Amino acid sequence: MDFSAHYTLTINGKPVETATQMDVVNPATGQAFAKVPVAGQAELDAAVDAAKAALPAWKALGWEGRREKLIAAARAIEPHSEELARLFVMEQGRPYDMAKGEVDLGAYWIKAVARQDLSDDVVEDSDTRKVIVRHEPLGVVAAIVPWNFPVLLAIWKIAPALIAGNTMVLKPSPFTPLCTLRLAELWRDILPAGVFNVISGENELGPMMTAHPGFAKISFTGSTATGKRVMEAASRDLRRITLELGGNDAAIIMPDVDVAKVAQKLFFGAFYNSAQICIATKRMYIHEDIYDELRDELFRLAREAVVGDGLQQGTMFGPIQNRPQFDRVMSLIAGAREQGLTLLEGSAVPDTGGYFIPITLVDNPPEDAPVVTEEAFGPVLPLLKFSDVDDVVARANNSEYGLAGAVWSDDVDQAFEIANRLETGTVWINDNLQNAPHIPFAGAKQSGYGVENGAEGLREFTWPRTVFIPKAKAR
Ligand code: NAD
Repeated sequence: MDFSAHYTLTINGKPVETATQMDVVNPATGQAFAKVPVAGQAELDAAVDAAKAALPAWKALGWEGRREKLIAAARAIEPHSEELARLFVMEQGRPYDMAKGEVDLGAYWIKAVARQDLSDDVVEDSDTRKVIVRHEPLGVVAAIVPWNFPVLLAIWKIAPALIAGNTMVLKPSPFTPLCTLRLAELWRDILPAGVFNVISGENELGPMMTAHPGFAKISFTGSTATGKRVMEAASRDLRRITLELGGNDAAIIMPDVDVAKVAQKLFFGAFYNSAQICIATKRMYIHEDIYDELRDELFRLAREAVVGDGLQQGTMFGPIQNRPQFDRVMSLIAGAREQGLTLLEGSAVPDTGGYFIPITLVDNPPEDAPVVTEEAFGPVLPLLKFSDVDDVVARANNSEYGLAGAVWSDDVDQAFEIANRLETGTVWINDNLQNAPHIPFAGAKQSGYGVENGAEGLREFTWPRTVFIPKAKAR
């Protein structure tokens, strides 16, 4: 397969080239392997104009008509899922089977969201009047996505925005533009022209989008720092926003768990996708009674982990997706070493010029160490000892973030009590990394603003129009 194929923007259903192009780097080698267009103001304006022009007809299609189109778009992914998965591995680094898992899940997600409905809410039906709330599409939506789940996180925006009657201009991360450019290409003959536009570009394109007056809403997933900039830009015209941001998720492991049974699940909950997941466990609080046993078991798994090129059979963990993130994680590890903390380093990583980092556990560091307080977004996990429930709840909540958390215990009632004390948008009991199209996902505190997924997420792509209808008796 030729990965250096020609990639184009999709604007108004047509391929668009640009004067300048940028490299896409394979994080397993550190080498550029493809080029993509660099969109600027002209391409952004054209995409917004196309999305605006497409709005009336897309809205007029109604839920049924749009549903058909979206299900056709999901089906169009299926025959290309292997091609997309290989492209995914090349640009993102994740092992092939897991990359394919995300592509397949994306197709499933579109269908599941497309089957949802937002019927009118009847909020009063009295003798004199009926009052209904209708859910109207907002207009043109700007979607800005990160590089860690480049397909699924785009689809979390595309599917609900489009089924609700909006049109969209999507900007992938500059580090992972290929899969979404390719998706838009596959959908050129399926979605009406202008309904879904994809423009790749460099760092300047994000702020250009958030400043563009043509957008009714900005749906953003990325870091908390960038999320604040998006909110500031959106405030100028009171544009609607949804922000899915960073996290520093705590898992609390109670002493009654069966260590042999839970260790592997805990390990993958922290390190899946080389720990580049917003909802990965990033602080693991382990009760002192089982601390040594669980630490040793996690360390055994880290030593057995196969870290390497995602296209090679047997690879369990790929590289860090990009150079700046690699440097960030490496400096966090170096800082922990300089601080004199005990680092337990897992299996060796390949020496290929790629951005590989060994899976690393930090043995009971102090609570204020940067490796505990910062979102690592890479394979370095602090294991922290606790003895008292009130104390561990306070430590878990001592963060500006509030994305997700987990409690692990054989006593589900006790776990539920603890779960209710965690200040996070999602809490799992004896589980991790779970989400689904019908389940709302939102960050508390500085982990987000608004909701994605579920009926609440769908509503965020609409505005409520309240209509008062008098009854005959009152006339
Ligand atoms: P990032 O904030 O650097 O970039 C995200 C996107 O925003 C990219 O497309 C980028 O080009 C664009 N961007 C950059 N500056 C911008 C600006 N000023 N205005 C508008 N757009 C701009 O984040 P990242 O490094 O790509 O992703 C990692 C972060 O994303 C982590 O903090 C992670 O926790 C978070 N994340 C959150 C979720 C969630 O659902 N809560 C999911 C995945 C990742």
